[in-house]
Amino acid sequence: MEKNTYDAIVVGTGVSGGWAAKELTEQGLKTLVLDRGPMVKHGDYPTAMKAPWELPYGDEPTRHDIERHPIHTRPSFYGITQSTKHWFVDDIDNPYVETRPFDWFRGYHVGGRSLMWGRQSYRLSPMDLEANGKEGVGVDWPIRYEDIAPWYDYVEHFIGVSGSVEHLPQLPDGDFLPPMELTCVEKDFRDKVSGKFGGRKLIIGRTANLSAPLKHDKSPQRAPCQYRNLCMRGCPFGAYFSSNSSTLPAAEKTGNMTMVTNAIVYELIYDNDKGKATGVRVLDAETGHQTEYFAKVIFMCASTFGTTHILLNSTSSRFPNGFGNDSGELGHNIMDHLFGTGAHAVVDGFEDRYYSGRRPNGFYIPRYRNVGNDKRPYLRGFGYQGGASRRDWTRLVDTPMIGASLKRAAQDPGPWTISMMGFGEMLPSHRNKVTLDHSRKDKYGLPLLNFDAAHEENEKAIAKEIIDDALEMFSAAGYRDVRSFAVQANVGAGIHEMGTARMGRDPKTSVLNGWNQMHACKNVFVTDGSFMTSSGCQNPSLTYMAMTARAAKHAVDELKRGNI
Ligand SMILES: Cc1cc2nc3c(=O)[nH]c(=O)nc-3n(C[C@H](O)[C@H](O)[C@H](O)COP(=O)(O)OP(=O)(O)OC[C@H]3O[C@@H](n4cnc5c(N)ncnc54)[C@H](O)[C@@H]3O)c2cc1C
Ligand code: SF4
Repeated sequence: MEKNTYDAIVVGTGVSGGWAAKELTEQGLKTLVLDRGPMVKHGDYPTAMKAPWELPYGDEPTRHDIERHPIHTRPSFYGITQSTKHWFVDDIDNPYVETRPFDWFRGYHVGGRSLMWGRQSYRLSPMDLEANGKEGVGVDWPIRYEDIAPWYDYVEHFIGVSGSVEHLPQLPDGDFLPPMELTCVEKDFRDKVSGKFGGRKLIIGRTANLSAPLKHDKSPQRAPCQYRNLCMRGCPFGAYFSSNSSTLPAAEKTGNMTMVTNAIVYELIYDNDKGKATGVRVLDAETGHQTEYFAKVIFMCASTFGTTHILLNSTSSRFPNGFGNDSGELGHNIMDHLFGTGAHAVVDGFEDRYYSGRRPNGFYIPRYRNVGNDKRPYLRGFGYQGGASRRDWTRLVDTPMIGASLKRAAQDPGPWTISMMGFGEMLPSHRNKVTLDHSRKDKYGLPLLNFDAAHEENEKAIAKEIIDDALEMFSAAGYRDVRSFAVQANVGAGIHEMGTARMGRDPKTSVLNGWNQMHACKNVFVTDGSFMTSSGCQNPSLTYMAMTARAAKHAVDELKRGNI
């Protein structure tokens, strides 16, 4: 037992687990970090430097790829290519049940989805953290913006987020690296939007790519971005934030981290006499060998549904309905962002202009609905993410041209096009839930998750307005061939799943307190997206990082005080 005993255990090495590992080890805790997937060391990105002609099948998925990834190749997704498919789980080996359809996009390897993420990084605002309480939706957040603001500063400084300072109450500014540049058509659209629609603003996206050197020297493996826009393959320059390039090397440097890979955590161990969790039970993904590890404090960072699976599967006489589930809310209140609706258009008048490099970023229109004096018949709102660029030679694939005329036409850039998609807020609802189906098991003998969630009336009203407003803005800007789109997307398609172990003040209605700490078991902290009490409409990972760092500080302080 002694050799398997640590000060802390972190489950998962993705966006949140990397931060837990860094903070706990830097504060002196001997920390065991477990991940169910294989090791990926920074730089170990097999396709990162491949030229287009080195990728088989034109970088498209084969029929076999589609058979193995029936979920990851749904219309709402885009990651199964020859250059990125190795980062996404095999859906056949990793099944789940869909009482109602759910798009669950996963990556099981060291670094988790921090390797594939889109890097858009936005803060929640005071308004977001107050909305549930004011509107009587779900439960009130037990914290306010002031509680998390210093931790946003801390995280942004360490990971490097490029962006512009805008002074918007609904989208607080941060500690930014220089903003990337808008293209000429995006600038035209920006001016027309602010000229014709008061209260709406188009800004460059805030992204965790290094537009300049980091402002500190604690991540020597990270260099400025080369503008290749191949980030999802992994970046050998370390130019975007991933656990692999940033937080895990920092944790390793302390000498306090032990990492075990292929380690599927399937259960928390609870000691009735101590009233505490004492450790975790682990199954080796390759051999099936079972091991127990012990620690004083446990950080659950296995992603929203990874963590929820472990907690639901950890039953005992004290917790017959899942670990820490006195409230009955564990697994409920699934949220994600509305995804897949928007509009595109063609823009004339800029044919003499171009741009250099492949900017790994787009524009952002922060939420303007139900902000200030704007009042809608629904609650909350949405933001847009989009971009304007010139079409390339692929526009000629369907044209009746061959030979010299085709070669000639392919040398010219095509017309400017612009497109944008809404990310809308989803309200927490007890009806949207995930449970364990004990009658169906995966290849390790673990029960499958069963998803039962759908968008409700408020989300449907937001989805409609996302399209209406996009069409209106492109038309008002004088663009042509303005068309809407609506991709077939279920809950989960936004890949911003959250809410299944929510924070709140009252243990009767929430799983965690204001420090991401279990109401019912104070030495267990949950800091992946399951803690979210509401979703906002901003991409959430920056908030997971800030809350993880904050929770780690609290855990260490509580350990020192002898409270856990
Ligand atoms: C294509 C794509 C684009 C995205 N774009 C953005 C964006 O622009 N902005 C944004 O904010 N977010 C974005 N996201 C979402 C973002 O990736 C997630 O919010 C974030 O990775 C969640 O962090 P996490 O630590 O909770 O989980 P993950 O990063 O998924 O990490 C979870 C880790 O836990 C491990 N694990 C799971 N179960 C177990 C278990 N039982 N035992 C041991 N280990 C386990 C996994 O192997 C994994 O390494 C995007 C995601 C994808 C896929
Ligand atoms: S665009 Fe920048 S961050 Fe992305 S892969 Fe290229 S160098 Fe790395």
